[in-house]
Order: sequence, then structure tokens, then C-alpha cells
Amino acid sequence: MLSNDLLIVTGVLVGSSGAILSYIICKAMNRSFISVVAGSFGTDSSSIGEAEEMGDYRKITAEKVAKQLQNSTSVIITLGYGMAMAQAQYPVAEITEKLRARGINVWFGIHPIAGRLPGHMNVLLAEAKVPYDVVLEMDEINEDFSDTDTVLVIGANDTVNPAALDDPHSPIAGMPVLEVWKAQNVIVFKRSMNTGYAGVQNPLFFKDNTLMLFGDAKESVEAILRAL
Ligand code: NDP
Repeated sequence: MLSNDLLIVTGVLVGSSGAILSYIICKAMNRSFISVVAGSFGTDSSSIGEAEEMGDYRKITAEKVAKQLQNSTSVIITLGYGMAMAQAQYPVAEITEKLRARGINVWFGIHPIAGRLPGHMNVLLAEAKVPYDVVLEMDEINEDFSDTDTVLVIGANDTVNPAALDDPHSPIAGMPVLEVWKAQNVIVFKRSMNTGYAGVQNPLFFKDNTLMLFGDAKESVEAILRAL
């Protein structure tokens, strides 16, 4: 290998790409490289509340979500690892098309580390042919949540957790997040009250303006599509 220049150059490119990627992820999580390599998430038991300790949450059905969307003039869709797991990007793209055809403003808000790879959500949306101009980065969209009627949180958890800003003892404290709770109505798509990657419970699910739509994200989105 060492006598082959091509392999040496390729190895250097792969190694430095990995280092740059790690740096980008650390920056997006507001954590130092050392703490990411040496530490772990979800070890501070004081902030990892069980769902029961956080209060009550309210459920909604797919049919009611469809009605809520029809009564909205602005909608933001935020996505996470669960959307990728469910492969829900195609029905999500169809809903977007349907709502836009009815004159409803639909935007996507993408967290830089949503999913399990940087750019994970952008790739899935591109695959489903969602127009690029409605897909905005977190910094571009965070100010718009307060003027938004409905936010759909599809399979995201840590990237929309208000504890990152409100709870200094949270393992994800200081990580920039999509401030979805500022919208009039928030609908969270997931299968259970389980935590996400960081193992931290999410106070968003217990807020007065949040409703939970339980089930596989793809099935839920398809049910909304049928109702629409
Ligand atoms: P999270 O991992 O925080 O949460 C994903 C949620 O999706 C879970 O709460 C889960 O809840 C739900 N889910 C899983 N499968 C389905 C399904 N089939 N249908 C519906 N919901 C489902 O995701 P985020 O994208 O918000 O955050 C990414 C996390 O990954 C961050 O903590 C980040 O630090 C970490 N990470 C990101 C990397 C990157 O480069 N992007 C790399 C490494 C880690 P339930 O089980 O109840 O359904």
C-alpha cells in the first residue's frame, strides 16, 4: 500500500473528510470534539425524566391532522431519524404538493444533525423530489415558527427538544434546536413516548399546543394523505 501513491492520497482524503465531518457535527451540537469522543449522551440522570414525570400528553388522529392542515395558512415540516426509518419521504412529498396546490404555504425546517448523517434529511427530500426552494436550514427558519399555524414534527426528537435551551443540566444543553414549540399548533409523529438518540425525554410532547400522532411515520402520513 505504501508504495502506491494513489492509495496514500485516497487514504488522506478519507481521513481528513472524516475529521472535517466530525468537526461539523460537534459544531452543530455545540459540543467540544474531546467531550464527544470521550463522553456519552444521556448520563445525567437528573434530566432524563420518564414520560410519567413530565405530565400529560394529548393524542390526535390522522383525520383530525388533515383537518388541522386544511385550516392552516402556513405549515412547517421538520423531520428526523424516524422519518428515515419509516421511509416516509414519498408521502411527505405528496402531502406537500397537495397543500401547496390549495394555496397553503409549506416549508421544511432542517436541523444540521437530524437523522444519523449530516444532510440525511436533505438527501431523502431530494430523492422524493421536494422542491429545493421550500427546504430551509435551521438558522433560516427558526424565527418563522412564531408566525406558523401548524408544525409537523415527523420522527424527530432531540433536534426539537426545548430542554436544550431551557435546562442547563440537560445532556443536550446548549445544542441549537428547531424552536417548533413557538408555533400555534405542533403535531408530533412517533410510535411511543420513547426517547431519541440522546436518551433524553422531551418536554415538547407535554406542552399545551402539542398533540401526539402515534404510529409508524409512513402509515400516519399516508393516512393523512387519504383524508386530504
Ligand atoms: P432522534 O434520534 O432524536 O429521534 C428519532 C425519533 O424517531 C425517536 O424518538 C423515535 O420515537 C422516532 N421513530 C423511530 N422510528 C420511527 C418510525 N418508524 N415512525 C415514527 N417515528 C419513529 O432523531 P433526530 O433526528 O431528532 O435527532 C438526531 C439524533 O441523532 C441527535 O441526538 C444527534 O446528535 C444524533 N446523531 C446525529 C448524527 C448526524 O450526523 N445527523 C450522527 C450521530 C448521531 P419512537 O421510538 O417512539 O417511535
